[in-house]
Amino acid sequence: MASNGYRNGTGTNKGAIKPPASSNIRSSSFKSRLPPSSNHSPGSALRRTSSASFTTAAGVPGRVRVAVRLRPRNAEESTADADFADCVELQPELKRLKLRKNNWESETYEFDEVLTEFASQKRVYEVVAKPVVESVLDGYNGTVMAYGQTGTGKTFTLGRLGEEDTSARGIMVRSMEEILANVSRETDSISVSYLQLYMETIQDLLDPANDNISIVEDPRTGDVSLPGATHVEIKDEQSFLELLRLGEAHRIAANTKLNTESSRSHAILMVHVKRSVLGEEVAIPTESDKSSHFVKPPKPLVRKSKLVLVDLAGSERVQKSGSEGHMLEEAKSINLSLSALGKCINALAENSAHVPIRDSKLTRLLRDSFGGTARTSLIVTIGPSPRHRGETASTILFGQRAMKVENMLRIKEEFDYKSLARRLEIQLDKLIAENDRQQKAFDDEVERINLEAQNRVSEVERNFTDALEKERLKCQMEYMESVKKLEEKMIENQQKHQHDGFMKDKCNGEGPGFCEDIAVIIKLLEKETHMRKEAEKEVNKLKSQLGQHMDAGAGGDAEILKLQIALEDEVHQKKKLEEEIIILRSQMLQLTFEADQMRRCLARGGSGNAYPGLDSPMSQVRDSLSGHKTPVSALFDQVGVEKILDLLESEDANVRIHAVKVVANLAAEEANQERIVEAGGLTSLLMLLRSYEDETVRRVAAGAIANLAMNEANQELIMVQGGISLLSTTASDAEDPQTLRMVAGAIANLCGNDKLQATLRSEGGIKALLGMVRCRHPDVLSQVARGIANFAKCESRASTNGIRSGRSLLIDEGALPWIVQNANNDAAPIRRHIELALCHLAQHEANAKDMINGGALWELVRITRDCSREDIRSLARRTLNSSLLFRSEMRRLRIEL
Ligand code: ADP
Ligand code: MG
Repeated sequence: MASNGYRNGTGTNKGAIKPPASSNIRSSSFKSRLPPSSNHSPGSALRRTSSASFTTAAGVPGRVRVAVRLRPRNAEESTADADFADCVELQPELKRLKLRKNNWESETYEFDEVLTEFASQKRVYEVVAKPVVESVLDGYNGTVMAYGQTGTGKTFTLGRLGEEDTSARGIMVRSMEEILANVSRETDSISVSYLQLYMETIQDLLDPANDNISIVEDPRTGDVSLPGATHVEIKDEQSFLELLRLGEAHRIAANTKLNTESSRSHAILMVHVKRSVLGEEVAIPTESDKSSHFVKPPKPLVRKSKLVLVDLAGSERVQKSGSEGHMLEEAKSINLSLSALGKCINALAENSAHVPIRDSKLTRLLRDSFGGTARTSLIVTIGPSPRHRGETASTILFGQRAMKVENMLRIKEEFDYKSLARRLEIQLDKLIAENDRQQKAFDDEVERINLEAQNRVSEVERNFTDALEKERLKCQMEYMESVKKLEEKMIENQQKHQHDGFMKDKCNGEGPGFCEDIAVIIKLLEKETHMRKEAEKEVNKLKSQLGQHMDAGAGGDAEILKLQIALEDEVHQKKKLEEEIIILRSQMLQLTFEADQMRRCLARGGSGNAYPGLDSPMSQVRDSLSGHKTPVSALFDQVGVEKILDLLESEDANVRIHAVKVVANLAAEEANQERIVEAGGLTSLLMLLRSYEDETVRRVAAGAIANLAMNEANQELIMVQGGISLLSTTASDAEDPQTLRMVAGAIANLCGNDKLQATLRSEGGIKALLGMVRCRHPDVLSQVARGIANFAKCESRASTNGIRSGRSLLIDEGALPWIVQNANNDAAPIRRHIELALCHLAQHEANAKDMINGGALWELVRITRDCSREDIRSLARRTLNSSLLFRSEMRRLRIEL
């Protein structure tokens, strides 16, 4: 480093002030936080700023501040230089230093601060380091560096620990004390690395094994770092002191190993300060903002700054290299960094286009301290001894040149992404919790509504069922009452009839009573219908409520499913209720019907036959048409035949029994038969015969079939659907005379159909008919006889028409003995049917022989004489006369008609 060329003053005038070339030095204060701008070259290589990834405050110019400190005379100097004056004279109040050239001449230099030998460590800290430390706390990089000849007090100024006397503490300890006092333990962090630079090698004073640390420069930002260095986090002053002691011990050990002195190496303490600050507001959502607008909390920023404290190697080496026995090359190497620093400062002071920053490790490390963005203070230490005047002058000149170096102070701050992420995570957690809370509230509400809806539905159902049950019981009671009354009246009537035999009176007397009963029943039915409608309304209302609840609870499928299930339940209930209504109605129907029958029976004074169609079908129809049909038909229309037929398959046996009764009653009326058959009633009734399970069902079903079998078209249908064999099976199975009567009646009706003759025989119909005579009940026998008569009549007709020939199938099937046996039965209906049958059989010669052999001739002869009906008597006579065989037999037996 050249020396003379950089002097501020010419040194020619005694007492002349030699200020640095930069014009602003005089006016600026050392403590100035924001120094005025200078004419410093903006193109300086050391003045790189941070890249776009950093939030960089606008730079403020900041010149390197330089203080000079004079060490007091030591013991040796006090003795040796006792007769000589100090080589410097300080004027601290003027911030001037006079360097004596000789007894007559001196040169005066102005510094930012002039510290006498009496300046306390505290004052030194305050004027030299404190402004830098404050800047570091504000986020700027800072450098405090001591430059001077060995033994002038660099380490005293920077590194004293002041363990025994705290007032002796140096800049390092005081800086850390200040930093610790001003940062937050929670949000900020401080770490330290401590290094020694010797012969262009960087050693880690906190980890001596780590003795060749390399400097890494970020090509993007120009930032310099030592990633290999140990970083120790500092929590308190004590741990820092420990660390300094450790560093010092390692420094001594390292220098012993290298056979050198600490004055030959540079000691560098780096304090890394990381502080969290809140920047400008940034737009992020918060949970407090319900309207989904955004509020802008302050932007979390992190400021990273670095305080570099450099205790340089003794400056005398610059000029006296090799003087202490080192080889020249080695000495050069030792001083390389220091001389490179001098060159860089010269270049910066002169605004040189090229600053040789890359020449040494020291200059690379301190690139931000001189001409960079850091606030930098330099303290130059000098001794008073005139013997070292040359070194002292050189040190002063170094200081003077450094005063010309202008830095551009910049804060480097960046987004504190970690902190932002942490804050957002907390906010997110809060939002999730809030969302969960709201969701739960929503679910609870849906559940509550659901429950309420279910309660209401079940309440309505309960009420409805209760009402229905009540009504049903009432109807039943009334029905029983009516039946009882009717029975009483019937007995009364019969008694009356026996007494005076005047039917007319009774008929007139009974009519209005029945009508009243029916009117009451109809009223009940209307009331019940009304209730059903009300219930349906209620159900609809509930449905729409359920719909609303389902809308409200659109949040969850499960709720909707629940509601749907509830709805299905409710629909099922409704269906059941409807079924009950149908049952009630059909009960009504039956009641009306039976009342009707009773009325008719009473009117005729008969025996109360519930199925009149078997004996005199047309009388029933006539009666129906004569004025009492209306209520029955109305009920029938209201209920609908399909619904009644559906009930035939009901799961409830009582319902089935009831339904089949209603169908049988309806089938007794010719007017209903077509509708019943069209609706599949015949098939259903046949099914009931097939799936026999209950005698009543079978009996009533057979009765209904018998009624339907009155119609020719139905007869064919019965045949087609296998009805003959079903009836035949029933005929052989059944024991109950009433069942047998119905089955016999049905077969008897089929026997009257010309087209069914052959099928009837082939499917066992005739055998079944004849088999039923085992039951001696006159009603059964009467139907058997009627069947035989019908069959014989059809055969006779077919033979007359030439369609058939040969012996009667009845005779083939062995019917003749029974016919002959019962031809004179006490029961008039049996007798009459057999008489007719015998007449029909006798009309064909093919039967004559069998009839004669079987004793039928005698019966025919008896008919011609005894039959109460004139037409039958003459028919028998005609028949006998027209047969050759009969005639000859009669001649043989001398019978005359
Ligand atoms: P350097 O580090 O520059 O080689 P030192 O700090 O080691 O110098 O100081 C050399 C000696 O001078 C030490 O004994 C130190 O105590 C003493 N000394 C230095 N400066 C002062 C001062 N201002 N007041 C009293 N003693 C000092
Ligand atoms: Mg030292």
